[in-house]
Amino acid sequence: MARVALLLGGNRGDVKRTLQQAQQLINERVGAVMRCSNRYESLPWGFEDEQTFFNQALEVSTDLSPIEVLDTIQQIELDLGRDRAAEAQEKAATGACYVGRPIDIDILFYGAEVIHSERLVVPHPHLPEREFALVPLHEIMRQMVHPETGQTVAEMLSALRTREANKQA
Ligand code: ADP
Ligand code: MG
Repeated sequence: MARVALLLGGNRGDVKRTLQQAQQLINERVGAVMRCSNRYESLPWGFEDEQTFFNQALEVSTDLSPIEVLDTIQQIELDLGRDRAAEAQEKAATGACYVGRPIDIDILFYGAEVIHSERLVVPHPHLPEREFALVPLHEIMRQMVHPETGQTVAEMLSALRTREANKQA
């Protein structure tokens, strides 16, 4: 049994409803949802989009392996209407790196495992620089330690905020 931290996000359609459905499907297919954060609203990161993003972190207890968790959450994304082909077209048409999507589910932590494979990097490589991931994660797992840096989630969040404040000064 492993403790997995997932980040849900989305900015297209009825996001509140999609996040609820995602949580239910995760509970059925990945494992019991032990804790879930509030939904946080944030401005789209790295691209222009008229609809704001909502993010939510979940702690899930699972018997699946990391790659099985990835397969399962990608299937849930498809079942909830994520269309990667349309996203790729939109990226090509607009030149943007990121485009809107009804649902994105990322693995932030899988226990204390460190994975660097072609399909999966865990802990999530952008976690230390994304406030929209650290804020909801902090609500449910502030003492979780990053296995590569030794920093807790709380320390990562305050380090990020210090860097941001220094940039603006
Ligand atoms: P985004 O980077 O916006 O989350 P996608 O959801 O399309 O984009 O994910 C792109 C790829 O990232 C996936 O096909 C998956 O194989 C890979 N990936 C690598 N590490 C992770 C992780 N920790 N969680 C989720 N996907 C991951
Ligand atoms: Mg993703």
